[in-house]
Amino acid sequence: MDHFLKFQISVDEDMKLSDASDSFYAYVGNDEITSLDQLVPPQDMTQLKNSLFALSEGRKGMCCFRIRTAGDVLNWIAANIKKNSAKKGLIELDLVDIQSMNEKSTPVQYDAMTELLNKQAITDYAASLTRVYPRKMFYFVLLDIDHFKNVNDLFGHMCGDEVIIDVAHIIRDCVGSKGQTGRIGGDEFMVVLDNIDSSFKIREILAAIRETVEEKYKSFRGEIDVTVSIGAVLYPEDGTSYDELFMLADKMLYRAKMKGRNRYIIYTPEIHGELKEASITNVTTRQVASEDAKIALIISYMNSFLRKATIPIQVALENVMRTFELDGLYVFYESLGASRYGIRRNTRPDGREMMEDETVAMPILGTEDIAGKFDSNNVAILNIFDLKRGSDDSIIKYLEEKEYRFMMVYHMRDAKKGGYVVYTADKESACRLSETDMADLIYFSRMLELTSLER
Ligand code: GH3
Ligand code: MG
Repeated sequence: MDHFLKFQISVDEDMKLSDASDSFYAYVGNDEITSLDQLVPPQDMTQLKNSLFALSEGRKGMCCFRIRTAGDVLNWIAANIKKNSAKKGLIELDLVDIQSMNEKSTPVQYDAMTELLNKQAITDYAASLTRVYPRKMFYFVLLDIDHFKNVNDLFGHMCGDEVIIDVAHIIRDCVGSKGQTGRIGGDEFMVVLDNIDSSFKIREILAAIRETVEEKYKSFRGEIDVTVSIGAVLYPEDGTSYDELFMLADKMLYRAKMKGRNRYIIYTPEIHGELKEASITNVTTRQVASEDAKIALIISYMNSFLRKATIPIQVALENVMRTFELDGLYVFYESLGASRYGIRRNTRPDGREMMEDETVAMPILGTEDIAGKFDSNNVAILNIFDLKRGSDDSIIKYLEEKEYRFMMVYHMRDAKKGGYVVYTADKESACRLSETDMADLIYFSRMLELTSLER
């Protein structure tokens, strides 16, 4: 704790400084400052004033805000605040610069697109709060737009950007002065609800975010519904380190997606069990790859295959499974009675995911019903929802029986005696293939087909 910079100051109800040490003036780099308004950004000042307003005479409270320090750098401050009952109207603030643990303070950065805090800033903020004593409760929240790829695929990236900005502002407005909001990835956000007390109803804020997005984007452009999924965890009750909070909230977000999206889940040990251990080992299995990473993977295999490098096919298949978040990948040569290669993602009872070898038979691929489904790229997309609009009863029955949500089948017509590459996603899985993902998988299948000619 000795590493932190600390200051004691007093202000009146108009935020005018009535007492501050020389070291404080040195810290802010200006000894002519007369009011906290000159140092604290407006949105943070609202938060500080709300905390003060809620505090009765003689009581202590806690609040976090940023202060503009020497060199125009904004630093996060945790403040113990006390309304001094002896000196009416006087507020005492014990300030702790929670960024001073780091060797060098970095300016707070904003995400240019949404104007929320950027990943570094919101992450630093959440991590800083876990280093403040006495501990102050806060909710750590992760949010992700559902099926966002569909927005990009159907209406283009520009439209996608607008949706991200809009959803970002809905989240920020619902959070208001109760905490801080940041964007941590494409369609992912992090919220730290710290300006609250223990009676605070987190459900109201999360429900407001969920409902506002749902209402605004119901049947967006007449085609799709845009919604958000949310996972939340309480500090310090359910996790005390930043990593623990992130993993638990991520786990809850994942669960919200699995349960059908458009919902929030707050970690409750009695319902969700002790997930801490399992989630730490599990986190690597749910790193969603960017478009660039996906293309890079396929191109690297293309190079290897064309140069006839000897990469083990199982390794390539497993990496494709992980990168595209598939649940099954099978390759058949000649016979449909047994897959030559087969991998399946399985969830163990302790929640960890495993890639396991599996040999399956898929005689259905040889039937007339499927034969009619291949397009000019030799690909058949069997999506249970689309099929239900038609009359493909036997295929629907098969998918339901296997609990697949969809299958993408590539027919290797050029392989010596024919063959198929089959990609599957389970009914409840997180896998969503966009058009670009499918194109990547077609390239990959074609490579397998060409390689098979030389076997
Ligand atoms: P899920 O419900 O599982 O979250 O499905 P999803 O389609 O939303 O999948 P995911 O969250 O993994 O995909 C996020 C996509 O956002 C991937 C990427 O193509 C897209 N994306 C990332 N950054 C940007 C951006 O700045 N602008 C736009 N328009 N799209 C972006
Ligand atoms: Mg998403």
